[in-house]
Amino acid sequence: MPTTETRTVLVGLSRAQLREWVVATLGEPAYRGTQLAQWIYAKAVTEFSAMTDLPAALRTRLNECALVSPNAISATQRSKDGTVKCLLRLADGNEVECVLLPYDDRVSVCLSTQVGCAMGCRFCATAQGGYTRNLTAGEIVDQLLHLQRLSERRITHVVLMGMGEPLLNLENALDALRMMHDELGIGYRRMTVSTVGIVPQIYALAERNLPITLAVSLHAPDDETRAKIMPVNRKWGVDTLIQAARDYFEATKRRITFEYLLLRGVNDTPEHAQQLARKLRGVPCLVNLIPFNYVPTPDGFQRPEAERVRRFRAVLEAAGIETTQRVERGHDIDAACGQLRGKHLGKPIPLTAQVGG
Ligand code: SAH
Repeated sequence: MPTTETRTVLVGLSRAQLREWVVATLGEPAYRGTQLAQWIYAKAVTEFSAMTDLPAALRTRLNECALVSPNAISATQRSKDGTVKCLLRLADGNEVECVLLPYDDRVSVCLSTQVGCAMGCRFCATAQGGYTRNLTAGEIVDQLLHLQRLSERRITHVVLMGMGEPLLNLENALDALRMMHDELGIGYRRMTVSTVGIVPQIYALAERNLPITLAVSLHAPDDETRAKIMPVNRKWGVDTLIQAARDYFEATKRRITFEYLLLRGVNDTPEHAQQLARKLRGVPCLVNLIPFNYVPTPDGFQRPEAERVRRFRAVLEAAGIETTQRVERGHDIDAACGQLRGKHLGKPIPLTAQVGG
């Protein structure tokens, strides 16, 4: 059992584990564990004193021997468009980012799965800080609970697209998603896992047979360009990755999202778009174009002009590929990946050695 001081941390325990724990540790009937699960997850309550259907004596004992969460929000930025970006400070002092994204028809959250990241993508702020550790399932689900307390509306959608590579922390990520499904009623169809392209792990996820949407950070249609910006491509190339995406579709029947980050003069020409269209022909997919969210990088990457983005999109659409452009949100705050944490840590941080798969 994870503990802080001598108290047991409850967030991250499933309903079954909470039921066992109240019986074994407190000598209480198992249904008290069900009540705890409802308070902690469905109601996002952290204080035992607010858990009004528990007897006063039990609440006092819980206060002595348990703690819902040792994690706390250490910084918040609110955008005029409603986006709220938070830094969650974990029990060991590490910090990760999570974002609340309210839209007219849904409320989405973007969650981190690792402290830092080992993938070394050249355009990414998180990569520049290197990799520290995997998050626990409790730390992943706790990001959502903290964001829920800041939101008037219920969270409906979850994307694992924050710091880290979810497929390299697959068991904890899936445990967290299962808790969101079982306790918060968020359907797997409303969950997206975004990957840099760890091919064997795409197959491992497909084997679970869950209707989770897979987002693949493709960012280039050819190995030469992709390897320049994503070291992971040296291990699994573009064709292998697109085949894995096809196979993921066959296994889950979930349409693939290909993320395509546009970097000025690097991967944003009409030729790149044509090549991309050729490679994706016949793949049930959606391409999501993301103009580079500027962060300072050693390569000096720049954001393409709006006209270039429009032309890139027009080529894909002419080839019959459904294309969306990421709705730019939180531009008045540090919206790009890793920016808030970078500021908190006192950026600039040194570029660490690239690992890449
Ligand atoms: N490791 C996973 C999920 C985290 S990154 C993945 O690679 O998909 C989430 C998305 O943000 C990825 O598509 C990533 O390539 C993209 N991204 C990283 N830095 C960015 C930046 N500066 N501007 C825009 N998108 C960025």
